Amino acid sequence: MRASEATNYYFKKAAKALRLGAGLETVLMNPRREVKVECVIELDNGELGTFTGFRVQHDNSRGPFKGGLRYHPEVDPDEVNSLASLMTWKTAVANIPYGGAKGGINCDPSKLSHSELQKVTRAFIDEIHDIIGPGLDIPAPDMGTNSQTMAWIVDQYSKYHGWTPAVVTGKPLELGGSEGREQATGQGLFFVIESVLWDLGMDLGKTRFVVQGFGNVGSWVARFIHGGGGKVVAIADVSGAVYNKDGLDVDALWHHSLENGSVNGFAGGEATDPKKLFTLDCDVLVPAALGNVITKENMQDIKAKVVVEGANAPTTPEADEYLHKKGITVVPDIFANSGGVIVSYFEWVQNVQQFRWKLDRVNQELKSQLLDSYKEIKHIERSSECDMRTAAFQLAISRVARTTALRGLENENFCMLSAPH
Ligand code: NAD
Repeated sequence: MRASEATNYYFKKAAKALRLGAGLETVLMNPRREVKVECVIELDNGELGTFTGFRVQHDNSRGPFKGGLRYHPEVDPDEVNSLASLMTWKTAVANIPYGGAKGGINCDPSKLSHSELQKVTRAFIDEIHDIIGPGLDIPAPDMGTNSQTMAWIVDQYSKYHGWTPAVVTGKPLELGGSEGREQATGQGLFFVIESVLWDLGMDLGKTRFVVQGFGNVGSWVARFIHGGGGKVVAIADVSGAVYNKDGLDVDALWHHSLENGSVNGFAGGEATDPKKLFTLDCDVLVPAALGNVITKENMQDIKAKVVVEGANAPTTPEADEYLHKKGITVVPDIFANSGGVIVSYFEWVQNVQQFRWKLDRVNQELKSQLLDSYKEIKHIERSSECDMRTAAFQLAISRVARTTALRGLENENFCMLSAPH
């Protein structure tokens, strides 16, 4: 199944429950704008390099478009489209004043020098600076990009429009980045995990976790779980997996991984087959690496009671239905991993106000924002007798549909949608 088909499947399921109507469904499913540009640079060897850049702006009825920018040799327009739409629903679930977007450049950052990457980034901004900006569209780091990329964007954009740090989020602290942004997705996942366990009557200290991915999201969430007293029994990265039934020392594994470039060879656990990671005996699975990893191939062997989606789109619709029927709670990506975009919003707020928040304030506001969304999702889940993903999509769609209606795209169906609680 293509990435966009999976997103549209979840969207349509929730839209049907909301009785949205075909017209509005089409409006909300299709992106407002898809841009494809050519970024031409002089490579270090003197030859010309051309790279294709994309920006998909899905919806901006609740505020400026917002979403990451990825550098990857196989940036696929279909995937960018689907991720842009996911961002619309994610920002709406989080109730932050943004819409959704995503972008990318078809390049392999591991094969380009620092200077070539800088040139590609500046060439891309030369092409799209008119359609981004603090009140238009605010990019952020994603796969293959980082705070340095964002710093180049601030610089290039500011050449056209004057000093504008709020044009992107995920910047270095020195250029207006926010405290807590780097760990925000993992921190947010941990707040979500605490709430879900509390609701299910599970004690963090007695809960066994398996985490796939030990990059930004996976390493931070695993460290927060470990720090909070939970037992992380297995962790995988792209090169292998380690297991310890008594719980891994995640901080030690983190240092090992920094020094050795992978979790392999860690003395505090035994190597295990990464392909069997999701079938290990545990209570909570946290996929925090790739999409499409919980599928019909492994869904029947999952023993966990809860799946918390750290990655975007890790569960295929087929597996999602199956897990729900089996009574396994799946905490959906558009809610679970929204900590990153929520703290991006705080960064933008700080830039606009020209006032810096301390880390305590960032975390306090993040927790409160996530708990508000969680209560709303649980309310819909109970009243509509549906799974948590459908409830989260219903919350998001109803918010976006209402602003669409309020802004003047009128239709009886739109106005009949009641305000979310
Ligand atoms: P990252 O590049 O920092 O880390 C990815 C990790 O996954 C690495 O440890 C890598 O080794 C591992 N990995 C790759 N292939 C694997 C495989 N086949 N098996 C096991 N591990 C594998 O990326 P990230 O920023 O941590 O993002 C991870 C996921 O979370 C992505 O789906 C991303 O879209 C999503 N996400 C990230 C953020 C964020 O703020 N970084 C926010 C929301 C969602």
